[in-house]
Amino acid sequence: MSQAGSESARETARDRKPRFWQVAKRCCQIAASVDVAFFFIFHYLGSPILAWVNVVSITMYAVAYWALGRKLNVLAVGLIWAEVILHAAIGISMIGWDAGFHYYLMLFIPALFVSMPLKHSVPAFTVLWGYYVGLYLMTWFFEPLQPIASEALLALNLFNLTVVFSMFAYLSFFYLRNVSSAHRKLQQMATTDPLTRLFNRRHMTYLAKKELARFERSGHPVSFIVLDIDHFKTINDQYGHEAGDFVLQEVARVIQEQLRAQDLVARWGGEEFLAILPDTTIDEASVGAERIRKGLLGNQWTTPGGDVLELTVSAGVSEYRPDDDLNAAINRADRALYRGKEGGRNRVELEAAEDGA
Ligand code: GH3
Ligand code: MG
Ligand code: MG
Repeated sequence: MSQAGSESARETARDRKPRFWQVAKRCCQIAASVDVAFFFIFHYLGSPILAWVNVVSITMYAVAYWALGRKLNVLAVGLIWAEVILHAAIGISMIGWDAGFHYYLMLFIPALFVSMPLKHSVPAFTVLWGYYVGLYLMTWFFEPLQPIASEALLALNLFNLTVVFSMFAYLSFFYLRNVSSAHRKLQQMATTDPLTRLFNRRHMTYLAKKELARFERSGHPVSFIVLDIDHFKTINDQYGHEAGDFVLQEVARVIQEQLRAQDLVARWGGEEFLAILPDTTIDEASVGAERIRKGLLGNQWTTPGGDVLELTVSAGVSEYRPDDDLNAAINRADRALYRGKEGGRNRVELEAAEDGA
C-alpha cells in the first residue's frame, strides 16, 4: 500500500534553494556556450573586439560557475548580472539595437521577482527598465561604432532571439517544477501524520465522508476497524519515547501490509489507528483485524535502542448501516474496542448488533 507516499515524503527534506543554485550553474554553462559561439561568429564577421569581449564573458561565467560550486552566491550573481548588463551595452553600442542583445536583459525580470523580496525586486526592476530604455534611446542618438552587414545583423538577431526564447522556456519549466513539488509537499504535510506517514485524522475524516457518499449511492458495505496498542504507556515508560515512536511506525507498517490497497488507514489518535474498508462486510473486516493482531503478535521488535519487546493490540470492528453517520459507526467500533480492553486486551471485538448510534 503506497497511500502515504514515503518516497515523496523523503523529498520533503530536500530544500528548494539548492535546486535554484543548480539552475544558476546550468545557466552559466549555457551562457558560456553561447559566448563561445559568439566568439567564432564575431571573428567570422570581422569584429575582433566583440569576439574578445566574449572571451571576457566566458571567463566571468567560468568564475561565476566556480563561485556557485563554493557557495559564493553573491559573487556569482554579481558576475552574472555584470556580464549581461555590460555585454548588452557593448553589443548594442558596437553593432546597434537590431542585433538583439537587449533581449537578454528581459531574462532578469522573472529572475528578480522570484529571487528577491518585493521591496528589493521593485527598485531593481525599475533600474533594469531604466537601463533598457536608456540603451534604446542611446541607439536613437548614436550610430553603431562597428556596424555589420544587414544579413549578419538579421542572423544575429534571430540567434539571440532563439537563445532567449529557449532560456525563458527552461526557466519557466524549472519554476513550474518547483511550484508543483512545493505544492505536493504542502499537500502531504496537510494530509499525513509525519511519524507514521499514515493519513492524519482530518484527512481521514474527509476521505471517510467521500467513501460513505459512495456507500449511499451503491449500497456496498463499508467497515471500520479501530485499533489500539495495548499498554503502550508502559512501552514508553520502560523503553523511552523513541522506542514508542518506533513501535508506532512498525504497527502502522504492519496494518498497511495486512490490508488491501483500497483500504484507508489513518493515525486516529496517539496510539490509536482507524482503518476504513470499502466493499467489506463486518465479518470480512474482522478477519482483516485478526490478521493484523496476529501479524503483530509473537513478533520480537528490536527498537533502534537495541531493546527487544513484544506487543499486542486490541481492535473493535463495525459496519456502516443505512441512515448511519460516520461518528456513530466509529463510536460503535470504539465501544467494541473498549469491551476488548475490558475483556483482557489482545483481541478483536465486533460491534454489538443492538448497539445503537
Ligand atoms: P491501553 O492498553 O488501555 O490502551 O493502555 P495504553 O497505555 O496503551 O493507553 P494510554 O491511553 O494510557 O496511553 C497512551 C500513551 O500513548 C500515552 C501517550 O504518552 C502515548 N503517546 C501518544 N502519542 C505518542 C507518540 O507520538 N509517541 C509516543 N512515543 N507516545 C505517544
Ligand atoms: Mg493503548
Ligand atoms: Mg488509546
